[in-house]
Amino acid sequence: MAKKIVIDAGHGGADPGTSANGIVEKDLTLKISEYLHQRFDELGIPNEMTRTGDTTLGPSERPKRAQSFYGNSSDVILLSNHINAGGGEGHCVTKEV
Ligand SMILES: [Zn+2]
Repeated sequence: MAKKIVIDAGHGGADPGTSANGIVEKDLTLKISEYLHQRFDELGIPNEMTRTGDTTLGPSERPKRAQSFYGNSSDVILLSNHINAGGGEGHCVTKEV
């Protein structure tokens, strides 16, 4: 069965994530996600993005949005993009969908 990919740009809107050296996590995760979306389209791989702009997605809304495209089945891959500032063990909570 062909895989489908949901690209999750971490953070967004009222939640900027981390920042350092003028880089804000929510902006960089969106750029990375837009690039992945373009490449998957070029490769003919079905894919969707949880957000396409500077949108706030709450902790319960994000997994609902992620599952809204292809459901919750084993042929769906979720890529959740985060950029940590370093110096720790990470700050992001990932929920498998
Ligand atoms: Zn993050």
